[in-house]
Amino acid sequence: MHQTRVTLEQNEIPTHWYNVVADMPNPPLPPLAPDGNPVAPEQMLAIFPGNLLEQEMSAERWIPIPEEVREVYSIWRPTPLMRASRLEKVLGTPCKIFFKYEGVSPSGSHKTNTSVPQAYYNKQAGFSRLTTETGAGQWGSALSFAGQMYGIDVRIYMVKISYEQKPYRRSMMQTWGANVFPSPTDMTNAGRDALAKDPNNQGSLGLAISEAVEEAASRPDTNYALGSVLNHVLLHQTIIGQEAKTQMAKIGEYPDMVFAPCGGGSNFAGIAFPFLADKAAGKKVRLVGVEPTSCPSMTKGVYAYDYGDVSGYTPLMKMYTLGHNFMPPGIHAGGLRYHGESPLVSQLYHEKIIEAVAVPQVATFAAGVMFAKAEGIIPAPESCHGIRAVIDEALRCKETGEAKTLLFCLSGHGHFDMASYDRYLSGKLEDFDYPKAMVDEALKGLPNVDWPPKAA
Ligand SMILES: *Cc1c(COP(=O)(O)O)cnc(C)c1O
Repeated sequence: MHQTRVTLEQNEIPTHWYNVVADMPNPPLPPLAPDGNPVAPEQMLAIFPGNLLEQEMSAERWIPIPEEVREVYSIWRPTPLMRASRLEKVLGTPCKIFFKYEGVSPSGSHKTNTSVPQAYYNKQAGFSRLTTETGAGQWGSALSFAGQMYGIDVRIYMVKISYEQKPYRRSMMQTWGANVFPSPTDMTNAGRDALAKDPNNQGSLGLAISEAVEEAASRPDTNYALGSVLNHVLLHQTIIGQEAKTQMAKIGEYPDMVFAPCGGGSNFAGIAFPFLADKAAGKKVRLVGVEPTSCPSMTKGVYAYDYGDVSGYTPLMKMYTLGHNFMPPGIHAGGLRYHGESPLVSQLYHEKIIEAVAVPQVATFAAGVMFAKAEGIIPAPESCHGIRAVIDEALRCKETGEAKTLLFCLSGHGHFDMASYDRYLSGKLEDFDYPKAMVDEALKGLPNVDWPPKAA
C-alpha cells in the first residue's frame, strides 16, 4: 500500500519549544510606550503572568515543555503528516506535496498548541480567570477547552456579529464551560462608550480586545490571553515544525519550500521556525507566509512601530502593518483579518530570511475545494491560503519540470465555515482589491516613534 500518513508515538511529542530568537541575526526590537521608551516587563504584569512574560523576553534556544502540558497535548498530538498524493495526481505536478494536519485538535485548529500552555502557566502563577476576545471563534474555543483542562474560568468577548452568525462556535465554547458575551457589552467602559455612540454596534476584534484587556487589568485574579502575534505564542507553536521535521526524516524527505497562512503569524512560525534553525546552519529551505490580498500586511504594509489593537491599549510593536485603524474588508477567512504581522515574523521578513505572497479570496476557496475533493479533508478558509500558494508552486514546477518537495501547514478544518463555502459554491463570493486608499488613510495614524530613537 502506498504510504500517505506518517504518525509518531506519544513519547515523540517534543520535549522543548524552539525559540527562534537564539538564531536570529539581530535581536528583536523592544516593545515601546507611546512616549518612545521601552516598556518594562513589570508594566505587563497587570494582564500576563510572570512565567509567560519570561518566555516572551527569552533568548534561550530551547525551553522545556512542562509534563502537565505534554499530557494534555497527547489528547491529539503528535499530529499526522500526510502526503497529498491524490492532489499531486490531479495537478499532474512533478512535485511531492506534504501537509501537517493541525485540524485534529479538540477545537479543530493549531490554536490549542498555545491555549493549553497559556492556561497552565496562568494556573501555576495563581490566576483563576482568563479573558480573551474572539472573532471567528477559533481562538475562543481553543482557550475554552484549555481553561477546562486546568480549572480556569474563561470569559470570552465575542464580536457581536460572529456571536449571532456563528452560534455553533459559541455553543462549543459554552460546552467547555466558558462564559461568552456579545461584544460590545455594557460590562466595560470600552463597551459602554461604543454602545452610547451606536446602540446597534456589531462589534470588531479591536473593540473586543479592548473589553477583554480592560476586565483583566481591573481584577487581581484575572489575566488576559492572546492567540497569536506575541513571541511566547509563536514559541508554543514550534512543536508543529519539530514534529514535521521528525516525520519527514522518517521517510527520508526534506522540504525545498514550507508554506503556511499568515494572520498574526503563529501557525506559520510554528511550522517554519524549526526549519529556520537548519537554514541558520547553512541548509537550503525557503519559508513562505501566505496572506490575503485584501489584508496584505507584509506584501503591502510598512515596517513601523504600531499598536496591536484599535484603541491603542497595547504597547507599540515594530511590525509590518497596514495601520491599527485599518478595517479589513469582510473576507471569509476571519483569522487573517489582522492589520499587523507578529514582530518576529516581521523582522525575519524585513531581513529577507523568509518570504511572503498574497492570494485573492475566490482563488483560495477554489484551492480548498480542489484539496477537499482530492484529499477528503475540508480546510478552514484561512488554511486555503496556504493551499493556494502550494498549488500555484506545484503548477509552476509542472511548466519547468522541477521536482520540488513542498510542505504546508493545514492549520485547521472548515467544519464551522460551511456558510462561507456555501457562498463560494453559489458564486456569491467576491475578491477585494487591495484597498490602497484605505491603507494610506490608516497609515496616517501611525505613531511617530522608532527604535533606536530618531535623533531630535
Ligand atoms: C487563527 C487561525 C489562523 C491565523 O492565525 P495565525 O496566528 O497566523 O496562525 C490560520 N488558520 C486557522 C485555522 C486559524 O484558526
